[in-house]
Amino acid sequence: MDPIRVIRGMRDLLPEQTRWWRWMEQRLDGVMDRYGYAEIRTPVLEHTGLFARSIGQETDIVAKEMYTFADRDGSSLSLRPEGTAAVVRSFIENNLGKKEPLHRLFYRGPMFRHERPQKGRYRQFYQLGAELFGSAHPSADVEIIEVAVGCLQAIGLTDFSLELNTQGCPVCRPGYREQLTAYLREHERQLCTDCRRRLASNPLRVLDCKQAACTAVAEAAPHLLDHACDDCRQQFDQVRAGLEKLGIGGRLNHRMVRGLDYYNRTTFELLAAGLGAQNAVAGGGRYDGLVESMGGIPTPAVGFAAGLDRIVLLLEQQVAEPERPPLLFIAAQPGYWLETLPLLQQLRQAGFTAVNDVRQGSFKSQLKRADRLGARLVLLLGQDEIEQGTVTIKDMQAPSDSERKQWQVERGGLLQEIGGFLER
Ligand code: AMP
Repeated sequence: MDPIRVIRGMRDLLPEQTRWWRWMEQRLDGVMDRYGYAEIRTPVLEHTGLFARSIGQETDIVAKEMYTFADRDGSSLSLRPEGTAAVVRSFIENNLGKKEPLHRLFYRGPMFRHERPQKGRYRQFYQLGAELFGSAHPSADVEIIEVAVGCLQAIGLTDFSLELNTQGCPVCRPGYREQLTAYLREHERQLCTDCRRRLASNPLRVLDCKQAACTAVAEAAPHLLDHACDDCRQQFDQVRAGLEKLGIGGRLNHRMVRGLDYYNRTTFELLAAGLGAQNAVAGGGRYDGLVESMGGIPTPAVGFAAGLDRIVLLLEQQVAEPERPPLLFIAAQPGYWLETLPLLQQLRQAGFTAVNDVRQGSFKSQLKRADRLGARLVLLLGQDEIEQGTVTIKDMQAPSDSERKQWQVERGGLLQEIGGFLER
């Protein structure tokens, strides 16, 4: 019988990978703590309408990429393709904005999009996102961008760039949309089929189409910033001034539009070298109208999401291996396994990583296992040790057994001896 395989575009993260993930997640959580962002966890399943209403019916994500199915009662459910929609739903549902106007929230978890899988693009992928509710001031935009940049810096990544744009607001965007549509109509014949369709439904999306012919048309398209109202322009200038103060800078990319309809004003992306085509590691922006349009009290907001799968790919290329805690391995002469139990317990209670060979084979096979696992120290319990109340410590650092030093210590002084030895 053929074994069942993992679903296309989804993958297992094995221990070789999860040690990078855990290392990264700890540091990213630290960044969130330092900026005062509290964690929110929402379900991976939501009513399909949530995403259609927030992300936009016409976006690729909603129109083509969602995992949608009927629940047993016939209602339409979808696996979340991104995090903001659910956070906004929860923000409204739990009346968070009524209790306190300003909220800093972050989330982390799997997202699902039925995209064409390739390196750095999966159908189940992981995001860390932060949302700052309750401020329309440019200092909130600056903070969110600073947090996104801080996440990459906290894990030692330096080779990335920031791109910025503004999406305007309901005052200035309609005028720009008209100008853009008129320009695109003049070049309609050069556009790909998707973009010709987008011309009617979502002309801004033509600007970031990856097809060469569309890119050429988009290069010469009118810029939103040139048509932005005074408020949007001022907002954007102040965001840039704030970033400048922090030494973050950023490049203006007139063609950057994001794949979700809810953005207004500031949008940004962090792009990293070394990832090929999938070089966006984080993206976000302001979404002032979303909370109200989803039935909440008007609440300006700004946020970002970072792609953790891509960040791990970068870590594996660019950062020295995360350290593992030293492993202590208990080997006991056959027949003495019961004696190992309190010893293991004592070591773990003292905070050490301690294991044994639960198959309880010969002394020799236990030592082989310790070697394979990369144990730093082996603690030997034979008849002599048990009769004398001692433990023999074997230093596994040297590559060959004949060079490995071993010495005996009293049981009572064992923890201190190991602690002192490992600190050296
Ligand atoms: P978005 O929610 O589309 O703004 O994406 C935010 C970030 O999530 C991107 O910059 C990517 O790093 C990451 N991302 C989006 N889609 C995928 C995917 N299919 N596979 C892996 N990472 C993704």
